Amino acid sequence: MSTVRDEGIVLRQHKLGEADHIVTFFCRRGGKVRAVAKGVRRTGSKFGARLEPGSHVDLQLYAGRSLGIVTQAESLHPYGAQIVDDYPRYTSMIAILEATERIVAEEGESSLRMYLLLIGALRSLAEKQKPSRLVFDAFLIRAMSVAGWEPSLLECARCGTPGPHRRYSVATGGTTCTSCAVPKAVTIQEQTPAHLLALLQGDWDEALCSAERVRRESGGVLAAHLQWHLERSLRSLPYVERDGAPVRLPMPEPSPYDDLEPELFTELTR
Ligand SMILES: [Zn+2]
Repeated sequence: MSTVRDEGIVLRQHKLGEADHIVTFFCRRGGKVRAVAKGVRRTGSKFGARLEPGSHVDLQLYAGRSLGIVTQAESLHPYGAQIVDDYPRYTSMIAILEATERIVAEEGESSLRMYLLLIGALRSLAEKQKPSRLVFDAFLIRAMSVAGWEPSLLECARCGTPGPHRRYSVATGGTTCTSCAVPKAVTIQEQTPAHLLALLQGDWDEALCSAERVRRESGGVLAAHLQWHLERSLRSLPYVERDGAPVRLPMPEPSPYDDLEPELFTELTR
């Protein structure tokens, strides 16, 4: 076995036996890594609360054939602990961690862009300056861009005619002109493409000026876009709050998406 040193964010943990956890990290150099943290559920564990979801840690691991073993974890930023008492921020964080785990399908593939994006989103939630819902939506659109799923916003996704266009279809890849719009495409508000673009580019002055109905629709567009690419929904998404109230989403069957699209969109933007 070889020892590996890296820094990473705890995406999640699940129980293993009586006292251990399998912890999923997203690491700066190593990408998505799963490792066993022994004795972490015992009182007085040497890891303390440092392996809770959302923790940014300096790690030392024995690299195993399939699962590594965590030998050391030093806290760099306890983002999760800084957020845990704020329910909307906490649910946004959990959804961000789950989205990262799902979007990064392969273990051991490093993606510095995705890593920096994740750190930036957690820091932003912990600073408590920007609305958590917008931080979540900005993370989603940028993460989808890193994954190669960026929705077309400035031009028609099919023929490239410059927009903005107001017909949107996740199956087509974003906004489309009226001649390319598939029958199931939905009509979005005029300001929605500009709001989504502001989130993608990190233009917070612009994004914070958007009306609530535009933000809500944009959140629905992004959730539908992600769901289509992942072929199912994030489990934690229904708990991300909008207007202070949790949104309950139906969990539709994964296919056929074309038939589901308008209904899904309506539910997600309600
Ligand atoms: Zn077109």
